[in-house]
Amino acid sequence: MRKTLIVEDEEKIREVIVAYLKRDGFETTETGSGNEALHEVSKNTFDLMILDLMLPDMNGEDVCQQVRATCPMPIIMLTAKASINHRIHGLSIGADDYIVKPFDPNELIARVRTVLRRTNPQELLAERMEYGEGRLIIDNQAKMVFVKNEAIGLTPSEYRLLLVMARNTDRTFSREKLIELVMGYDFDGDARIIDQHIKNLRQKIEDDPKKPSFIQTVFGTGYRFHGGSQ
Ligand code: CA
Repeated sequence: MRKTLIVEDEEKIREVIVAYLKRDGFETTETGSGNEALHEVSKNTFDLMILDLMLPDMNGEDVCQQVRATCPMPIIMLTAKASINHRIHGLSIGADDYIVKPFDPNELIARVRTVLRRTNPQELLAERMEYGEGRLIIDNQAKMVFVKNEAIGLTPSEYRLLLVMARNTDRTFSREKLIELVMGYDFDGDARIIDQHIKNLRQKIEDDPKKPSFIQTVFGTGYRFHGGSQ
């Protein structure tokens, strides 16, 4: 399990980040204090730190620099400061990425995965995701999907479609966006081909394809993947 340290003094934001990371299978340690964060880093090993720039006891940039001096873990900085100068400065003191508040938690999780992949290529291979309390497992190392612990056969397009949606749980995709992500930009067929792939996927992964719990229809918009247990 990947271990993350979340340093953010705004409790509501911290809770949302922790909830999203946990849902995506990360282990989380949280604090609202820069000093506590440094203490945590000195006694534990983390795979990634999410660090707010404005902390009550310390400047996030100082925390970043002090961590950087001793520890190679990737750091994503959170900030309300959107100016390009702050962005460049944040990256120059050793942050690996920068995200500006307010942000979409899904976007943050996507950045976390990207940063981990970039800093540790094994991350991409080792990706394994569980949904619905283990009812659905996507093992991207083996390129296999399991439903209730039984391997199911998917076509390459179905697999890519499921992977794209599952990596972005609760994000609504239009058919056109899914076409672009799954079939490529130059696909010039009917976008409704996605409907057929979704139908096939539901037959294979849902308990009741007519009342899907994972792949949900968003009327008038497209589809989204729900990773919860209901
Ligand atoms: Ca803050």
